Amino acid sequence: MPFGRRKDAAGTSRRWRLSAKLLIASSVATVIGFSAICACVMLDMRRGEEELARQTLENLASGIDTDISRNIELYDLSLRAVASNLVMPEIKDVSKELRHLILFDHAATAKHFGAIQVFDAKGKLTIDASSLDPVPEDRSDEEYFRVHREDPDIGLFISKPMLHRSAYAIVLSQRITGPDGSFLGVVAGSIRFSYFHDLFGRLSLNPGDIITVLRRDRTIIMRTPFDLDVIGKNLAERSNWNPANLQSNGSYSGVGPVDGIARLYVRRSSTSPLYTVVGKPLDGIFSLWRTEAIRIGAIMTALILFVLGTALFLAREIGRRAKAEDKLEELATTDALTGLKNRRKFDSEIDAEWRRAVRNDMPVALLMIDADHFKSYNDTYGHQAGDQVLVGIAICISDSVRRAGDCPARFGGEEFAVLLPGLSAIEAVGVAEAIRRKVECWSEDPTATTVSIGAASMTPAAGMHWSDLIEAADKALYAAKANGRNQTVLASVPKLSLVA
Ligand code: GH3
Ligand code: MG
Ligand code: MG
Repeated sequence: MPFGRRKDAAGTSRRWRLSAKLLIASSVATVIGFSAICACVMLDMRRGEEELARQTLENLASGIDTDISRNIELYDLSLRAVASNLVMPEIKDVSKELRHLILFDHAATAKHFGAIQVFDAKGKLTIDASSLDPVPEDRSDEEYFRVHREDPDIGLFISKPMLHRSAYAIVLSQRITGPDGSFLGVVAGSIRFSYFHDLFGRLSLNPGDIITVLRRDRTIIMRTPFDLDVIGKNLAERSNWNPANLQSNGSYSGVGPVDGIARLYVRRSSTSPLYTVVGKPLDGIFSLWRTEAIRIGAIMTALILFVLGTALFLAREIGRRAKAEDKLEELATTDALTGLKNRRKFDSEIDAEWRRAVRNDMPVALLMIDADHFKSYNDTYGHQAGDQVLVGIAICISDSVRRAGDCPARFGGEEFAVLLPGLSAIEAVGVAEAIRRKVECWSEDPTATTVSIGAASMTPAAGMHWSDLIEAADKALYAAKANGRNQTVLASVPKLSLVA
């Protein structure tokens, strides 16, 4: 049935458009999904790289911290032994040689450790582990002497880095306290920087890696790469650094207090008076990851572009097919000569309108229009001139029928049909007369081309079919012809469906 085919074609066209949208939507969703998965994987990889670097730095910092703590503890034990042995009354009675043997153990003479010295309450050098007859020295102005004199409870004091006996070193000192709590002097020793150089030299560090050893008051004791401008400086004086960033046993990712390089910093601290911070540039930590990210990113971008490109291409192709189908649909329903709907389309339209009229209990009107004496016109002026007249009649019809839903069509040969849904018989006659007069006026010679019109209007009742309407309008057309042509005749329709 033609009506069914029309519906099918329209449905197919809508389905095409829907599938084009669906294709684009699903491609975009796929791209977003894959991008999200990819981004998650890349972020996980980045976190993994950072975690690995943090662990490595923690192990490194722990190792350094342990070594420094152990050496300071050993040296402190020697200092404390000297401080406590010195106040034994018997020590005064022994010879210098024996006193040396009693006071100074071999641990304090290890490589990188300076000789232990004893200063009296006035800061004068009294005993020197390296010499039985030391050259006189006065250290009463030194910070390590003053802090012990002023604070009996300070315990082990570690000085800022300083030139000590012509080598850079840190001085470790303990107070010598008499049995009555009086200040009897200071015992001091030193750890040379060569110790740190040796310790750090054993580690394999990459360019940009840093190790910093600090005193608890945040004075930099040692740093590698070695920089005398930094060593001995106190980070507390730097306003660009918030110490809360890097807590004990914590880590911090960003620019540190000394230079502008962004690093991952890890801080370890034992109970030792010194603590260690190690740092690795973020560029170095993430360099492999970045290369991988760029590679995967480039592949993903290419894939995304490919998928989106293909989706757009296919969608466009689908759109083109839909348009082509629409065009075909248009061609299949249009009369080539007059541009009006063809008979097939008219059949489907009248069927649809008839059903609607049944549902809504509304009238449907139909005009059947036939050119008068057209055979003789053809014979006189030729077939092509006849065709032009048919086009002219079609224009006259179209001009007179402007409501949405009205369907002017070429019924066949020189016959036209106009479907007028909702129009009563009188209204239909009005339209028919308008058409007839327009044709009459349009023709140069009024006698040359006229049309006869059969009009009918019915309100569909049970058991009726739209062919009844056509038959009624056709009969009226014959009557118009019989009455002398160039006129409109209204069909007499069954009473049941007659609309005044
Ligand atoms: P009547 O007034 O009784 O309708 O007379 P008529 O000559 O118009 O009627 P008839 O049915 O005898 O002739 C119809 C003519 O219409 C025959 C044919 O030459 C012509 N005709 C049909 N289709 C076309 C067409 O597409 N182009 C042209 N030029 N003529 C056509
Ligand atoms: Mg005819
Ligand atoms: Mg005719």
